[in-house]
Formats: sequence, C-alpha cells, structure tokens
Amino acid sequence: MPVTEFDIIRRYFERLPSPREPVLKGIGDDAALIGSRADDDLVIAIDSLVEAVHFPPGTPAFDIGYKALAVNLSDMAAMGAEPVWFTLALTLPDADEAWLSEFSRGLFELADASGVSLVGGDTTRGPLTVTVQIGGYVPHGQALLRDGARPGDLVYVSGTLGDAVLGLKLLQYDPSGLLQEYPELRARLNRPQARLREGQALRGLARCAIDISDGLLADLSHLFDVGQCGAMVQLDQIPVSTAAQAVLAQYPSWRSLIWQGGDDYELCFCIAPQKQAELEELMASDNLHFTRIGCIEAEPGLRCTDANGSHMDCQAHGYTHFREQE
Ligand code: ADP
Ligand code: MG
Repeated sequence: MPVTEFDIIRRYFERLPSPREPVLKGIGDDAALIGSRADDDLVIAIDSLVEAVHFPPGTPAFDIGYKALAVNLSDMAAMGAEPVWFTLALTLPDADEAWLSEFSRGLFELADASGVSLVGGDTTRGPLTVTVQIGGYVPHGQALLRDGARPGDLVYVSGTLGDAVLGLKLLQYDPSGLLQEYPELRARLNRPQARLREGQALRGLARCAIDISDGLLADLSHLFDVGQCGAMVQLDQIPVSTAAQAVLAQYPSWRSLIWQGGDDYELCFCIAPQKQAELEELMASDNLHFTRIGCIEAEPGLRCTDANGSHMDCQAHGYTHFREQE
C-alpha cells in the first residue's frame, strides 16, 4: 500500500494534543491556534535546511531532524526568547518510512528536551528540504536585537568556536582518523545545542546579540554594521575546544576556519564596559561560559590581532547564498 501524505503526518508527526500552554489547537485543523500572552512580545523565526547545501547527502535522518529544529532554537536564543511552538514544512523525494522514522525521532528528541510543541506543517514531494518555523515569547521590550553596539562595548562569545566546521572538514578529509578520536566534532556539526539558557540570562545585560551561523566575523559584522561602527577582535582569545586544538595541531592551515567557518550556533554579543562585573557574576552563579574576544570601535570595519598583538588580515565574509550570481 503506498503511503500518502496523510499517513506520513499521522504516523510520524501527529502526537497527542499539544501539552503546552498557550497552544490551543495543534496538528489536524486548517491552522494552529495559539493563545497570546499579555506581557510578552511574540518572536518568530524560520530556517530551511536543503540537502547538499546545508548538509551533505547521506547525513543521518535523525541528525537532519535534530538540526532543523536546533538552528531555529538558536535564533530564539539569540533574541533572548523562550521557544514555545514550531511548524514543519517537509519536502521529500519519496515516502521512505525508515528515513521518516529516524527523522521524526531526532526532531522530537530535541523538541521534548526543549519543551516546544510541533503544531502544524506541510508535506510535499520534491528535492529534500526541511523548513522549520518557530515561535516563542520574550518579556515585552526585552528582546536582544542586533542593533545597539557602541564604541567601547566589549564583545563576547559563548562556548567554543570551530568544532562544527572542523567536523565538516574531517568528514571530507581525515586520513588519520581524528573524527573517531573526537566524535564530539561531528556531534557539534549535526546536533548543535542552542544557547537558550545563555540568551535568556543576557536579557537586560547584553546590548545586542546574534547567533553565529555563518562564521564569527561575518556575524559579528552584522552587529557593528547596523551601528555604523567597527570592531577589534583578538583572534588568539577565541575559545577553542580541546578536540579542535588537537585537529589544528595536525592541520595548522585550517586555523582561520575558527573565525570564518560556520554552524557554531554560539552567541556573540556586546555589553557596556561597566556591565563586565555583572556579567562575570552571572557566569559564576549560573555556570555560563562566555569569553571576551574584542571590543567595538568607532572606526568602521574589522581589525584583527594575533597573540603578540600583530595585525592579521581577516575577512568577514562567511557563507552567502547567491554570491556566485553577483
Ligand atoms: P491543508 O490542506 O489545510 O494545507 P494539510 O493536509 O497540508 O492541510 O495538513 C493537515 C494538517 O496536518 C494541518 O494541521 C497541518 O498543519 C498538519 N501537517 C501537515 N504536514 C505536517 C508536517 N510535516 N508536520 C506537522 N504537521 C503537519
Ligand atoms: Mg498543506
């Protein structure tokens, strides 16, 4: 018996009534119905994953489901928002039930861990594309926006950078089996952890924030471009995991990927210098990991220095769709 779109929805995506307030009606009607929250602002984001663009063919279906939601949760984190619901537009080349089963398992593992409900979607046939739209709330007026950086502000990042891009490089070239030795690199690539706790803790403290999806320098430039200022980045201060250090020891020429790669899903944010003590207290009390990597300067553009203070040439372009058509 061929599987229809309705079988797919029922078997893999429709679950018992959505548990979460304020979801009033989830999958099964013409649209989802979500209650409003009086003192909050509604935050909405959408991100697509396209096979061969965002993930290589052959990526495990579990990881595709996981990552499709994770990248959207990361946008919520960068806004300081609490995610509540999401919708899923799924375009599949065929109704492969083994694939669907793993995909929905990955998707719901993260959805359950993050407390978000799948409230609707669309299912179509075509080249493999997964689009997740997410909604959440932030107390009125407290969202972390991209604009707001001022000269003198300190620039911080969460966690460590470069693990995902080094994982991707090793998937393509790994004669010495580093991926086996450091499986966490592949995990960072395929199952990113959105910094939701960090983003919410930074409300009222960070002046602006962005999540790093296209590479540190590319995303940081979005923060200072809107304020028509610039930034100085100390490349040697960028936090790098033990696994990434081991990879770079073997392939030193990959080092610039740390700030030019992508898929980190860490937060990059600015604080006023007088907030530094408050940030440090927050890090200690809430066990959060932020590292200062530079500062905002009045002069437009980006300047990078290395360990001995020497100037380094660095370019801010990360991954850009349609660039080759320019
Ligand atoms: P319509 O014809 O009104 O677009 P559909 O037949 O596409 O309705 O969808 C029926 C119900 O199933 C709707 O509630 C829709 O939101 C939900 N739905 C469809 N595809 C998905 C999916 N991939 N994931 C979750 N819900 C889905
Ligand atoms: Mg539809």
